[in-house]
Amino acid sequence: MEKTDVDRLRTLDREHMWYPWTPMTEWMARDQLVVERAEGCWLIDADGKRYLDGRSSMGMNLHGHGRSEIVEALVAQARKAGETTLYRVSHPAAVELAARLASMAPAGLQRVFFAESGSTAVETALKAAYAYWVAKGEPQRSTFVSMEGGYHGETLGTVSLRGTNGEQVDMIRKTYEPLLFPSLSFHQPHCYRCPVGQSSDSDCGLECTDSLENLLTREKGRIAAVIVEPRVQALAGVITAPEGHLAKVAEITRRHGVLLIVDEVLTGWARTGPTFSCEAEGVTPDLMTVGKALTGGYLPLSATLATEEIFGAFRESVFLSGSTYSGYALGAAVALASLDLFEKEDVPARAKALADVLTTALEPFRALTHVGDVRQLGLIAGVELVADRETRAPYPPQERVVDRICTLARDNGVLVNAVPGDVITMLPSPSMSPDDLRFLTGTLYT
Ligand code: PLP
Repeated sequence: MEKTDVDRLRTLDREHMWYPWTPMTEWMARDQLVVERAEGCWLIDADGKRYLDGRSSMGMNLHGHGRSEIVEALVAQARKAGETTLYRVSHPAAVELAARLASMAPAGLQRVFFAESGSTAVETALKAAYAYWVAKGEPQRSTFVSMEGGYHGETLGTVSLRGTNGEQVDMIRKTYEPLLFPSLSFHQPHCYRCPVGQSSDSDCGLECTDSLENLLTREKGRIAAVIVEPRVQALAGVITAPEGHLAKVAEITRRHGVLLIVDEVLTGWARTGPTFSCEAEGVTPDLMTVGKALTGGYLPLSATLATEEIFGAFRESVFLSGSTYSGYALGAAVALASLDLFEKEDVPARAKALADVLTTALEPFRALTHVGDVRQLGLIAGVELVADRETRAPYPPQERVVDRICTLARDNGVLVNAVPGDVITMLPSPSMSPDDLRFLTGTLYT
């Protein structure tokens, strides 16, 4: 791009754009990163500089940019019909996709309700769970339980689910508090900062789940559902749960007769190993949400999957939810093309091999003076920085240490995220080459 064009864009950007989660004064004070095109896992800015995308566009890029199989599916569908809406009209791509999702999901999740983002898929799950109890004659079951630090999206419903742990979570909850519905939360399985004071893995009997047990006992008959990110809370600081934690949460939830919602919006599509993270512990929830990489990141589309038991409660009535774009044809066709690639290229095997490369590449970080902990599940990894390794004391927030590191990494051609708790997070795409992945970690290490 010509320099004058870039300058013009940056001026228009300063005058008109409003960015999500971005301190705008700071953004406007420097030359904005204007990504003009992309190749594979690399983003190329308007000045021609290349950046390795270590966050796969917030976890949605699955196959790399520019895949002709997906582009062709998009164009072919656009020539037939871009969208028809699902309001009392069906179309082949949506039906095929629903059947495909049901065949890939944990057995029993047969019904598929489409939405456009992870947040609206979770929102749908909340409404379905509550309306299920109303249909069952238990309307008093209107409270949801989530895990401390949990992240499920940005709508008021999903923000209401945020547990109270974590600096950013507190800030967002605090900002919107008067608009939110009350919810309850239980301990997160934070092994580095154990909420029940265990000091080593060998002591761990998953006592952090006692808080869920106690809560469900106390609130008997009032809880609609428990919602969790399965096996890892990425945005809370890559909190990786000890093995068996999800299965235990599922067991407690079942025993108390409460619904379980598993939010696979980020963890789905082999990011943690199996196609869906909950499969690793043999858990089939009542409702499951998917999004982000469902279309390989090419179009926004998400879905809420439900068991026949949940769907059955609505068979004779109407589920009062939906949107104009629900299951739109273009999105469904692109998702089908993405799932074809997912199977043809055995993305789970590829993700596993790349995750092993990541494990090795992260090992040296553990010896660094200010690295408190290194956590990883599949292709979700986090490096927690601390001011003092001995006491695990965090840096004073005003130092914004991880923000500064992310900016430095960006200047050196690598994009990663900073999340609360001074954690640098990496979400590489399974399509990234091992050499590129080593470039990513190498850049952060130096
Ligand atoms: N649920 C989880 C677990 C997520 O990580 C996210 C986004 O990061 C969402 C829901 C919200 O998805 P979206 O940003 O598409 O609304």
